Amino acid sequence: MEKTDVITIGAGGGAYPGAFELSRANRKVVMVDIKGVTSGNCLSEGCIPSKTVRETAVMFSRSRRFASYGIDGKIFVDYSKIVEHKDAVQQARYAMHERELSSFPGLELVKGMAEIQDDHHVLVHTESGDKEYSADYIIIASGSESWRPSIEGIERCIDSRDIFSLNPTLRQVPESLTVIGGGYIGLETASMFAALGSKVTLLEFMPRVLSNMDEDFVSGLVSLLDPSIEILTSASVTRVVDDGKAKRTSFTLNGKEREVESDVVLCATGRRPVIPEGADRIGIRRTKNGITVDASMRTNIDNIYATGDVNGLKPLFHAAVRMSLVAAHNILSGRKTSDYVDLLSIPTTVFTIPAGAVVGVTRKEASGIRLIEGHYRFEGDSRAQIFGETEGEIRLFFDAMTTKLVGGWVMGIDAGNLIGEIAAALSLGAKAIDLANMSNQHPMASEGISSAAREVV
Ligand code: ADP
Repeated sequence: MEKTDVITIGAGGGAYPGAFELSRANRKVVMVDIKGVTSGNCLSEGCIPSKTVRETAVMFSRSRRFASYGIDGKIFVDYSKIVEHKDAVQQARYAMHERELSSFPGLELVKGMAEIQDDHHVLVHTESGDKEYSADYIIIASGSESWRPSIEGIERCIDSRDIFSLNPTLRQVPESLTVIGGGYIGLETASMFAALGSKVTLLEFMPRVLSNMDEDFVSGLVSLLDPSIEILTSASVTRVVDDGKAKRTSFTLNGKEREVESDVVLCATGRRPVIPEGADRIGIRRTKNGITVDASMRTNIDNIYATGDVNGLKPLFHAAVRMSLVAAHNILSGRKTSDYVDLLSIPTTVFTIPAGAVVGVTRKEASGIRLIEGHYRFEGDSRAQIFGETEGEIRLFFDAMTTKLVGGWVMGIDAGNLIGEIAAALSLGAKAIDLANMSNQHPMASEGISSAAREVV
């Protein structure tokens, strides 16, 4: 039995930043991950590879406006080069993570599957046998995995791993693509492949896509997407059949049976938390969305924390990073909570083309607060004009009583970047006047943030 101060289950975003922090404070930390590397699903199949493909799709659609067409009248993308680039980005980052890890000599990464035995003991199943650890604290950061409904023929669908993992099975842009699921993964993938030339149909079971996000935000964002993407909502998929030539996806829409034919069907029906073996046995409280934690990331068992996707609060990499640091800080301060996660200041970006990003309180969440809004349209924005992408807006929400910034969204150019400034202002407690007085860089789209704030002062 090996004794350690802290053991993390998983070595992704919910684990390693906190592990580094603890190691810097001379705590002995063991990270356990079945992959045997740090960085988790974000790098293996998530944000990094998907944004690599997405950004190449953006570059392609931007540059095709200035391309001339060959005799066959066609311009096409060499997808193998995109895959090559994506794999190279992933490899480079794996190497970077390995170097980073080796700079923490007191930190051990064990390749294996962790099983919780009790509140202080973890058994790790490794290739060379089982190892037992005793730890003062356990951080569960086991992440999430894609989930498929039990639909006939669902095994004929690919999932995001087939596109984004290293050396992926999808090697070319499908002529036609059906996407099952209108969450952010489904929409982003629909958007990037439409930009690369696929004919895309997206089927969503709920009455609208991104059903857990602000309705006005979502309808604004959807109106900016490539209109060639056919989005069908309240569509319930019943069957996927392969007739040898194409995949036929059957679904019910308005009580009628319909069918769409495509080369590839992507199943993007959501992700579920990965609950480590033993967690239920020792009574760690959870719901179907994940392990229940308070803002300090503590579970119902005092010395066990649950960070990242596994707690279901905000399944995004940067949220996991913040959560892991919060857990580390609270472990370092003993039984007293010294840090907590403020979910309202963590932005969410849907990387469609164009992207939409949101943070804090918007109209949907504003019960009890009267909001005033500052608004900026990209129509008149210099950077948006430079790119010829003038659709979309920045919208800021302020508490009418205090003029404090409580939320905001951006849809259109640079959304994923602009939301960072809004989130920073929000977490620092900025008021409308503070933002209005900012001298944002010209000619960049961030000028719209101060301009929107000036609408309300
Ligand atoms: P998060 O961003 O929430 O940390 P990730 O999915 O990026 O989530 O990382 C979770 C990591 O945990 C993945 O690399 C996964 O393989 C690993 N993992 C999940 N369950 C276990 C387990 N029981 N033992 C070891 N590793 C695990």
